[in-house]
Parts: sequence; structure tokens; C-alpha cells
Amino acid sequence: MDIQFLGTGAGQPSKARNVSSLALKLLDEINEVWLFDCGEGTQNRILETTIRPRKVSKIFITHLHGDHIFGLPGFLSSRAFQANEEQTDLDIYGPQGIKSFVLTSLRVSGSRLPYRIHFHEFDQDSLGKILETDKFTVYAEELDHTIFCVGYRVMQKDLEGTLDAEKLKAAGVPFGPLFGKIKNGQDVVLEDGTAIKAADYISAPRPGKIITILGDTRKTNASVRLAVNADVLVHESTYGKGDEKIARNHGHSTNMQAAQVAAEAGAKRLLLNHISARFLSKDISQLKKDATTVFENVHVVKDLEEVEI
Ligand SMILES: [Zn+2]
Repeated sequence: MDIQFLGTGAGQPSKARNVSSLALKLLDEINEVWLFDCGEGTQNRILETTIRPRKVSKIFITHLHGDHIFGLPGFLSSRAFQANEEQTDLDIYGPQGIKSFVLTSLRVSGSRLPYRIHFHEFDQDSLGKILETDKFTVYAEELDHTIFCVGYRVMQKDLEGTLDAEKLKAAGVPFGPLFGKIKNGQDVVLEDGTAIKAADYISAPRPGKIITILGDTRKTNASVRLAVNADVLVHESTYGKGDEKIARNHGHSTNMQAAQVAAEAGAKRLLLNHISARFLSKDISQLKKDATTVFENVHVVKDLEEVEI
């Protein structure tokens, strides 16, 4: 499981940073890629990665500001142009209005898609668990921005224990159907009378990963709730230390507030994105350095950077 950042800038694109989008690559887990936000030019960034648009099965939108959604019509249209590939349906989750934005853009531009889009819109009253599959559950909660904006908590379900084949072989279990039985938790008796307890040969279940991806927000308790015990928290850092007042006025956070959220939530790792073009590279090191005084494991991400979870 990896996160690849497609756009890490705030508000408008710069040469180094495109507007918001990131890909949660779940290729080993479910052979899918989930996009979070889709700012203008996201499809161009994707061209610089190994991500195949057809693998993008779900898109989660945090809020309807242009720098988070203007890339949708272009991405959705280009996704249709993979002529010799199978056309797969796509789900879009986001605040009420996202369906109208997408359908209007497609209709006005005469774009016809050869695949179906299933829209899942929500508002303040319909948040909570927004998706559950056999491997993942996704929750959304309202943040505190200048318009309705949410954060997402993606929870992988616990992973089953694995069979220790070497240990089984050493215990004299012949390779074959017995392996399958033991893997299913069944105790067996070998021909020579040896009793084999399945539990002794299956490792304990591993806890699933928790990934928290927030939209634009002031510091709020909802962020902390979404990030409790997260393996990774992706948090905006539109402003730096000392700019708490301006950040509040504009509905954003500083690096210090993001670090406080990570610390209060007991997250394991903090990735800062939504970085203003005002910040030069020495300022970026300072953003990290300052945040580290509050929460140790912090990193300011770059466009196209890939982070293993
Ligand atoms: Zn915004």
C-alpha cells in the first residue's frame, strides 16, 4: 500500500507543485487505486506515474473548491480513451453538488463516457461510515473550512494470519489437502497419530492500516478523531509557525497545528501537503523543523513522491 502525491500545492499550481490530488495505491490489496481530490492537471501528473487511469475505481472529494475538483472532467474524459482496455465503472464520493458539477461539465462539452459513474453525495447530516467493502471501511467527518469540507479515515480490515508452511513441513505434515484444512483453522491428526493444532501454525491476525486524509481545515477536534492511531495522517500546512491568525481567517492550518493534531491523535506519521508557493526550499525545511518540535515523525511531501504505508 502506497500513497503517491500528485499535487501538493495550495490554491493554484506552481512550477514545482500542482493543485491537490493524491493516489492511494491499493494494488497488492485489491488491485485498485483510489484518488483523493482531483485538481486541474491531475491527469497530466498521472502520466508521470505508473498509475493506469482504468485502475482508478473510486474518487473521494474533500470539498468543492476549484483547486480540488477542476481536474475531474478532464480525467474522467481521458479515462474513456483507453480504447482497447475494458471499461470499468467508477464511484465518486463527495459533498452535495459534485454530481451536478461533473454531469454539467460533461454535458456542456458533449463528452460521453463508455463507463458508468456512481455518485455518492453527502452533506452534514449524512456523514459517518460512507463505504464498507470486505477489506476496507471509509469514514468521513466534517472539518472546519470556509465551505463544507470533509476528512476521510480509511481503515483496512484486520488481515488473517498466515500459515507457517516450513513449520508444518518440519512437523511431518505432508504437503497437500491437510495444509488447506489447517489453514482454515481445522485441527488434524496425522496417520502416525500426531495431533496437529491449527492455531500453532497460523500467525496471529495483523491489524489493518489506518490512513487519514484531510481536506482543507482549521484546527478542529474532528481532525483528531479521524486520525486516532492512524498509521499515516495527511494534513494540510498552508501556513507556517506564527501565522495561526491568518490561517484561521482563511480556514486553514499551520504546520504546528497539523503537528498538534498528529500528537493528540497518537498518529504514527504526519505528511504535510497543501504547501503554499510562497515557501522556498529553505522555508520547507523550516516547516518540517518547527513541526518536529511538536510531533517527531513529520515529512513535507513533494509532487510525485511515493510513500509506503
Ligand atoms: Zn479549500
